[in-house]
Amino acid sequence: MPCPKGVNIPMCFAAYNTSFAHGWYQGMHQYITASGAMVGEARFASDCVKCGACLEKCPQHVQIPSELTSVKRRLQIPGLPALVRLGVKLMSR
Ligand code: SF4
Repeated sequence: MPCPKGVNIPMCFAAYNTSFAHGWYQGMHQYITASGAMVGEARFASDCVKCGACLEKCPQHVQIPSELTSVKRRLQIPGLPALVRLGVKLMSR
């Protein structure tokens, strides 16, 4: 952190872990919260452009871009970013 694309890396991984520990639905809920949709522009694991900037900053040497792909596969149903952004837009009216 910070990711130049605004991906909340720790929260994405936390949501991923939650989806196994407490169920997919709860993980998904946490993933949407982690996107920051309610406080700014939503960012998802799919926004990672694999620039590698986070790799040199991770003290645990986690392969963050590939792990974010796993997060995306598990939690990001097709169309989710567009749906969340639309929902936030409608709620802000
Ligand atoms: S590799 Fe992805 S998550 Fe890491 S800094 Fe770049 S865009 Fe952000």
